[in-house]
Amino acid sequence: MSKAYDNNNVFAKILKGIIPCQKIDENKFSLAFTDINPQAPIHILVIPKNPYIDFYDFTKNATSEEVKFFWELVNEVISKKNIVEKGFRIITNSGKDGNQDVPHFHVHILGGRNLGKMIS
Ligand code: AMP
Repeated sequence: MSKAYDNNNVFAKILKGIIPCQKIDENKFSLAFTDINPQAPIHILVIPKNPYIDFYDFTKNATSEEVKFFWELVNEVISKKNIVEKGFRIITNSGKDGNQDVPHFHVHILGGRNLGKMIS
């Protein structure tokens, strides 16, 4: 049985306007905002506006238009933040082993310094 989406997760509340966020950009299907606990000088989260739990759920169930708008917003953010040339890292955590804290699909965009080989 597939997992159910938790309507009360913190990103759902941001999307409903119940909790504020520091918005960077948005499009029809996606929203980008600053991570509240930044791990690098640039640490931005990109989320779909529709309710998907994780990478697998999003990739399996989102429309191709949603997927396209999602990655377009990621590219818009890295362009806006001037890290296309310098580089960046995109991370998505999933499930227990991935240590995903917020059960609404998101990618972390990290940059602004050399991030090392991997984040442990
Ligand atoms: P993950 O462990 O991949 O689920 O990451 C969840 C991320 O959400 C963490 O990096 C948190 O710092 C971030 N976060 C949690 N609450 C908020 C919030 N209200 N606004 C912005 N970022 C948040």
